[in-house]
Order: sequence, then C-alpha cells, then structure tokens
Amino acid sequence: MPTTVDGIILGSGHNSLVLQAYMSRAGLETICLEGNAHYGGGLTTVEYPTGSGFLHNTHSFYHRGLNGLPWYDDLELEQQGAQYLQPELNVALITPSGQTLQWWNQFDKTVASFASFSQRDAETLQKWRDEFRPILEQILIPESQAPPLPLEQREAGLRRSALGRRLLEVSQLSPLEFVQENFEHPTVQAGLLFFNGLREVDLRCAGFGHHIPALLASDTLAQMCRGGSLQLANSLVADIEQHGGTIRCNCRIQSILVEGDQVVGVEVDDGEQIYARNFVASGLNPQQTFLELLDPQHVPASWQQKAHDYQYNLLAPLFSLNLNLSGPPRYSARHDHPELDEAFMVILGLEHFDQFPEIIRHHEGGTIPPTVMWGSCPTQFDSSQAPTGNHTAFMWEKLPYAISGNAQEWDTLKEEHGKQMLDVWDRHAPGLKDQVMDLFTRSPLDTERSLPNMVGGDLLCGALAHGQIGPHRPFPGAGHYRGHLSGLYLCGSCCHPGGNITGLPGYNCAQVLSADLGMVSAWSPPPLLQRWPAS
Ligand SMILES: Cc1cc2nc3c(=O)[nH]c(=O)nc-3n(C[C@H](O)[C@H](O)[C@H](O)COP(=O)(O)OP(=O)(O)OC[C@H]3O[C@@H](n4cnc5c(N)ncnc54)[C@H](O)[C@@H]3O)c2cc1C
Repeated sequence: MPTTVDGIILGSGHNSLVLQAYMSRAGLETICLEGNAHYGGGLTTVEYPTGSGFLHNTHSFYHRGLNGLPWYDDLELEQQGAQYLQPELNVALITPSGQTLQWWNQFDKTVASFASFSQRDAETLQKWRDEFRPILEQILIPESQAPPLPLEQREAGLRRSALGRRLLEVSQLSPLEFVQENFEHPTVQAGLLFFNGLREVDLRCAGFGHHIPALLASDTLAQMCRGGSLQLANSLVADIEQHGGTIRCNCRIQSILVEGDQVVGVEVDDGEQIYARNFVASGLNPQQTFLELLDPQHVPASWQQKAHDYQYNLLAPLFSLNLNLSGPPRYSARHDHPELDEAFMVILGLEHFDQFPEIIRHHEGGTIPPTVMWGSCPTQFDSSQAPTGNHTAFMWEKLPYAISGNAQEWDTLKEEHGKQMLDVWDRHAPGLKDQVMDLFTRSPLDTERSLPNMVGGDLLCGALAHGQIGPHRPFPGAGHYRGHLSGLYLCGSCCHPGGNITGLPGYNCAQVLSADLGMVSAWSPPPLLQRWPAS
C-alpha cells in the first residue's frame, strides 16, 4: 500500500517546518521530505572536527528579533527547548583606524555612539526613529506577517492614512539615496548601508528607501539561539512530531505527481510514491518546483518562462572562516572601548561610504574585493558551543559566487582566502592567530552544494528586487503561496516576504492553506487592511 497523508512538504527549511507545525497542530497528517541527511536547511549547527565539542553554525547565525515573531509564540517553541539571547552591544563596526560605531539594545547608547561621529547624524537618527516607529509597527510588520495585497489594493490601502502616504513617499528613494540625503558622516553612511545590505536588499534599487528608517525604528536586533541555530529546527521538529507529523531525511524528491489539474503526491529517489489527500507544499525554489519536479506537460508555457526567469541576488553569497580557539578575539580598539569585549556582531574593514560601489564592481566582475567582513564569537554568550574554556568564532565576507566566471575556482582558492581573512582579523585582534586550534572555510559554492535551492549561493533564495517582491514573489501569478494546480502550494523564501530566518513565508502560507482547507485557525491574524490605519 503506498503511503498516503493529508499533506506533503518539500524540503525541511525552517519555513517548511513552520508550515508543517501549524498543519500538524490542526490535526492533519503530514510528512516533510528532505534531501540532506539532516533537517533544518539554513538552521545548521555542525561539530568540527567530529567529536571535538566545537559547534559551528555554517549557515544562519543572527536571527533578527526571532522570539518576537508570531509563530514562535503560537508554536510554544520555548517549551520545546528554544531559547534566544540578544546581547546588549548588538553590533560594533570597528574601523581600520580604531573608531567604533555601535548599535545597542538601549537606543540612547546607539544615539550616543552616532554622536561621537556626528551630532547632526545622531539627531537625524532620533528623528527618523520617532517618525517611523508607528509606520513600522502599524504597517510594515503586519504586512510582512500576511499574504501580500495586490499592488493597486496595497496602494489604495496605504493612501487612506497619513502614515501610509508617508511610507509611499519615503519608499520612492533607494537605500543609497536615503542615506546620502539624510546622513553626513561617511562612516555612519557606510554602517547604515552595510547593516541594511546584510538583509540583501539591493541598495541601488529605488522603491526600497524605507528599509533604512524601518531599520532605525526597529527594536528587533540580532539574536542567537542557545546551543546553536539547529536548536530552533529541533524545537520545531519536536512540536511537529508531538502533533503526529513526520520528517524524512536523505530523501530526494524526483517528481510531483499530477492527475488532471490536481497535484496528488510525489515520487522520491528510490521510486516510492507518496500520496497527498489535500496538498503538496514546496519549500524549494521556483525552478526546482515548476521546471525540475513537474512534468512540462503540466506547467503552462508562461509559468515555465517566469520560473526560468526568476533571478538570484548578485551580492548575497557569503564566504565564511570558522575558528576553534583557545581564547576569544580581543580587538586592539578595546583600549579606548573596553565594551568591545562584549560585542556580539563585529564588522571589520568598513570605514567609508565609497566602498560600496567598489564591492559591487568586484561582484559584477567576479573578482575579490578588499576585505570587509563581519562575525561573532558565539561562545562568549553561550559556552555550550565549545569545550570548557575554549571558543568558536567566525567571520563572513560577501564574495562573488563565480571567480572570473567559474564557481569551481573556489575549491582551489578557498584555503588561501581563509588565510587572508585571518591575517586581516589578526591585525584587528592581535594574538588571534596564536589562539587558533583548528579552522575551516566554506565558499559560496559550498553553500549551493549543501542547499541546492540557494542557486549561485544566494542565501535569500531569490533577489529582492522589483518584479520579485510582494504579490509578485516569486513571480506574478504565483505570489499568493498557491501554484497553478489545485493542491500545490509554495512556502519557502521565494515567497513574500523573502529569505532569512523569519519563518514568515511558511507562516503566511499556513494562513492561505488553512483558509483554503476551510479550517478554523484561531492563530491567524485578521485581514491586513483591517489592521492598517484607516486615517
Ligand atoms: C552562509 C549563510 C549565512 C546565513 N546567515 C543568516 C543569518 O545570520 N540570519 C538569517 O536570518 N539568515 C541567514 N542566512 C539565510 C537563511 O539561512 C536562509 O534565507 C533560510 O535558511 C531560507 O529558509 P527556507 O526555509 O526558505 O529554506 P532553506 O533553509 O534553504 O531550506 C531548504 C531545504 O530544502 C532542501 N532541499 C533543497 N532541494 C531539495 C530537493 N530537491 N529535495 C529535497 N530537499 C531539498 C534543502 O536541503 C534545505 O534543507 C544565511 C545563509 C547562509 C548560506
């Protein structure tokens, strides 16, 4: 007898797991199929070397405001062992000349840090924070936590209120223009853009200007999961299994099965067919879902073309250097700023606004730019991630996926590049090299190899650019978490609001799927237009 369940979910990234948890809690019988040996996708924590007790988060580490997300509470993940830490000195940019620009949990300390560069910039920061806070809380956050509105309806909904009209006005700029128009000090400008660029929004793109003031208004700073990022996946899986769901790893999906205009199941790599009574939800990218897994006869030519044309971010790929250490990095700038010993995210190599065009040029040309990198020493905040008295630390650098047009080049270049990063790091933190017990690197190509949905190493699983946001993400017609066939859903980062560890594509898909299945979902928020200000 073939296995038959209510719903099948493809890929076990956190978005898939969030969707599966809601569906399992609703009483549906679900199975999640994962190609890798472990579940979690970007929620990966590995021990290196095996048996050493040194844990490394090889994909995501900084989970922004995670314990404030609605699904975190709905799914009661703390009862399943998830625990989040948000260190006080959240981000510290240390310039090559030893100055530091800092973001603190306490906003007045952030303002004071900006003032040490420019009093005017500190005042501008405070002004935008005050103005954008209600826009963020009443419009942007609810929007990210709901299926997107059609564009005309969105615009009309925003035009009803002064807050909405102001948002539309500020959005017209690009993040680059916003920063140049509002802030004067080149290090402040660079810090704001870099911090925003970490979310992979294209800084040159008009229409995204509001991302910077939204960032300034936000209290949701970087957090880390105690025990490593995988603990978040473990807590989701514990909840799913407690409610009768199943996760199957080492299981490559070969095809999605279709009868008439209805998706009925999937076939996996050993030929087994698994059937779904209600739905198949894909946490994969549009090329995988519509071009690789579905037979072309079941996909209209226009959908094939749109899936084919789906774009990935040029600036998203990351290179990482991961260290096992006998002691934590100590930055020479600590002599003037002893608080740096407690800094969570440290940015090195960035000082001036003008570095951005240069970094973009290198990405476009497939060459390696001068090092700008950022990272942490997680064990300073969570000693469980290394043997007693020892530490782990990492640095990430945005580097092109293909070097001179060839991604395979990374296999020969990566060790040497890791050494160069360590040299730069050691210049800022003298003595670091002497504390290194072991190290390894991961290139953008390694990212794609371990998570094939991240084409070109794009950790957002698709560019955040016009034509691929809101109701048009991943592409027009597919922007409401539904495929073109009955029973087919999309729940991964290729959907609104996009990539990173937010769980919101999975959460929003759960709202759509619950409504389509006629299920009562007390957790589901009211329609977006009811929540937006009306005047
Ligand atoms: C180096 C790196 C650092 C990052 N750092 C951060 C960070 O600090 N903060 C942050 O918020 N985000 C970060 N990200 C981004 C974040 O990890 C992703 O945006 C997020 O994981 C996407 O979630 P998802 O659920 O959509 O898919 P994923 O997490 O990508 O999961 C997709 C799953 O599908 C599986 N899969 C793919 N193809 C198949 C197939 N054919 N059959 C079966 N299974 C398949 C994959 O193995 C994977 O488990 C980082 C990513 C990388 C690579």
